Amino acid sequence: MSDHPMYALSEEHQAIREAVRAICDAKVAPFAAEVDEEARYPREAAEALRSADFHAPHVPEAYGGAGADALATVLVIEEIARADVSASLIPAVNKLGSLPLMIGGSEDLKKKYLGRLAAGEGFSYCLSEPDAGSDAANQKTRAVRDGDAWILNGTKRWISNAGESEFYTVLATTDPDARSKGISAFVVEKSDAGVSFGAPEKKLGIKGSPTREVYFDNVRIPGDRIIGEEGKGFEYAMQTLDHTRVTIAAQAVGVAQGALDYALGYAQERQQFGKAIADFQGLQFLLADMGMKVEAARQLTYAAAGRSERGDADLTFFGAAAKCFASDVAMEVTTNAVQVLGGYGYTRDYPVERMMRDAKITQIYEGTNQVQRIVMARQLLAGVQSTL
Ligand SMILES: Cc1cc2nc3c(=O)[nH]c(=O)nc-3n(C[C@H](O)[C@H](O)[C@H](O)COP(=O)(O)OP(=O)(O)OC[C@H]3O[C@@H](n4cnc5c(N)ncnc54)[C@H](O)[C@@H]3O)c2cc1C
Repeated sequence: MSDHPMYALSEEHQAIREAVRAICDAKVAPFAAEVDEEARYPREAAEALRSADFHAPHVPEAYGGAGADALATVLVIEEIARADVSASLIPAVNKLGSLPLMIGGSEDLKKKYLGRLAAGEGFSYCLSEPDAGSDAANQKTRAVRDGDAWILNGTKRWISNAGESEFYTVLATTDPDARSKGISAFVVEKSDAGVSFGAPEKKLGIKGSPTREVYFDNVRIPGDRIIGEEGKGFEYAMQTLDHTRVTIAAQAVGVAQGALDYALGYAQERQQFGKAIADFQGLQFLLADMGMKVEAARQLTYAAAGRSERGDADLTFFGAAAKCFASDVAMEVTTNAVQVLGGYGYTRDYPVERMMRDAKITQIYEGTNQVQRIVMARQLLAGVQSTL
C-alpha cells in the first residue's frame, strides 16, 4: 500500500489551503466590498499575495517561482475567490498569460520572462478580439516579419488585468489564409512603443480586475519574442486553455463556497416566526443542495487538476467539464445564497449579491459554457476515455 492518502488532499496541499486562507482573511476579504464598490484594483490583495508568493504560484522553481503543482494552484485560486473573485484573477491571469510561453517558448525566452513574473510583474493573455470571441481562430491582429523583427498591428478586446500587467502573450496571424495554422504567439511588453490600452470596461462583476482593450500600432518587437514555432500559436493557446479552465473552475468553487458559508451563518442568526430560519425544512433543503453541488464541483475540479498536472489525454474533457459544471453551480449557489438572505441579500450591505454578480463571469470567459459543451461532446464522440 502506498502511504499517499487515498483520494484526499496531502498534508502539503492542506497546508497551502490554510496559508492562503489566513492571508485572505487578513488582506483580501476585508477589502472585497470596497474594491467592488469603487471598481478599483485590489492593491492590498496584490501586495499580500506577492509577498507570500501566491501571485503566480505555478512558476517552476527553476525560474525562481514557488513551483506549485496544478492542484496547489487550484487551491490558491479557490481560496482567494472565496474571499474576492477579483483578486483571484491575479494568479489565474498570470498562469493564463504565461502558460503559452511555458508550453511552447524557448529556454531563453522562459528565463527572460518567467523570473520577472515570479518576482511580481503580471502576465496577461491576448486572444479575444472584437470579431474573435467563441470563433477564436478568426484573428485579425497581424504580425509581419521585418528583417530580424516582427511588427504587430491590431486590437485585442476583453483583456484581463490589461494595464496592470507588464507582459502580454499576443496571438496574431502571420499567414491570414491559413486560419488557425497561420496564427503565431508573441510576448509583448507594456513598454513596447505602440502599445496602448482602452478605458476599463464597466462590468457587472469582477470589478476589481481591469478588463480593457489592448491596441498594437506598428509595435516592433525583436524576432526572438515569438513563442515557439511560427504557425503554432493557436495550438499553444488552446493547450493553455485546457489547463487554465481548471483554474476558472477553482474560482467558481471558491465563490460558491464563500456564498454558502455566508448563507449558513445568516440562516442560523436570522429569526422569523420565533425561530432561526435555518430551522425551516424548506430552507434546509436549499442549503443541502447548495452544499452537495459545491462539493461535487470541487471534486471534479480537483480531479481535473490532477489531469492537468500529469498532462493526461482526457484533460481536454475534464478541463471543460470542470469549468462548465463548477461555473453553473457557482451561479446557482450564489443566486440561492441571495434567496437565503431574502431582501437583505439583494443589497450591497451583504456580500452575497457581489458574489452572485462575480460568479456570472465564470460561465462566460475562457470559452462560454456553450463552447465547453461543444468541446466535451467532441471528446466524447472521439472516444476519449477517462483515465481513472
Ligand atoms: C470580464 C472578461 C474578461 C475576459 N478576459 C479575457 C482575457 O484575459 N483574454 C482573452 O483573450 N479574452 C478574455 N475574455 C473574452 C472571453 O473569453 C469571451 O468574451 C468569450 O470567449 C466569448 O466571446 P464573445 O464575448 O465574443 O461572445 P460570442 O462568441 O459572440 O458569443 C455570444 C453567444 O453565442 C454563443 N455561441 C457562440 N458560438 C456558438 C456555437 N458555435 N454554438 C453555440 N453557441 C455559441 C456563446 O456561447 C454566447 O452565448 C474576457 C471576457 C470578459 C467578459
